[in-house]
Amino acid sequence: METAYVLFGSNLGDKEALFAQACLLINNRCGRVVKVSSAYESEPWGFEAEEWFLNRVIVLETELSPEVLLDALLQIEKELGRVRNPEAKGYTSRTADLDILYYGNRIVLTDRLTIPHPRLHQRRFALLPLCEVAPQLVHPAFNFTQTELLRRCHDFSEVRKIENPCNTTI
Ligand code: ADP
Ligand code: MG
Repeated sequence: METAYVLFGSNLGDKEALFAQACLLINNRCGRVVKVSSAYESEPWGFEAEEWFLNRVIVLETELSPEVLLDALLQIEKELGRVRNPEAKGYTSRTADLDILYYGNRIVLTDRLTIPHPRLHQRRFALLPLCEVAPQLVHPAFNFTQTELLRRCHDFSEVRKIENPCNTTI
């Protein structure tokens, strides 16, 4: 059994409803969702888009291997309506993006998978919710806690915690 940290991101459709569905599906198929962060709205990062993102971190206890977990998450993204455009370069708007940020303290480097997520320490929208749910979690390669990673992060794009989301129960 390992604890995995999954980042949900969406900037298309009913984002909170998509998040709730993602949690249910993850809880049914991947293990047990033990905690979720507050909701954060973040400005699109690395591309232009009208709609801001909803980001939330899901803490999951799982017995799936990282590869099998990735497959399950990609399938859930698909079921939640994510359409990948192979022509699109870089980032595009999406209904649901599910990235594995951490899988216990494991380092995974394969063709399909890099864990810890290779850009999490450069992204405020990942670090802020991580600092809320696991401030003392140590990055297994950099040896810094999430709090320390956030302090050192040079991304100053706007990320706002939504203090009173209408849907607080998961
Ligand atoms: P991004 O999340 O960077 O916008 P995608 O969601 O389109 O990009 O992901 C593309 C691929 O990234 C996935 O099919 C997967 O093979 C790969 N990938 C590598 N490392 C990870 C990770 N830690 N979590 C999720 N996907 C990953
Ligand atoms: Mg992704």
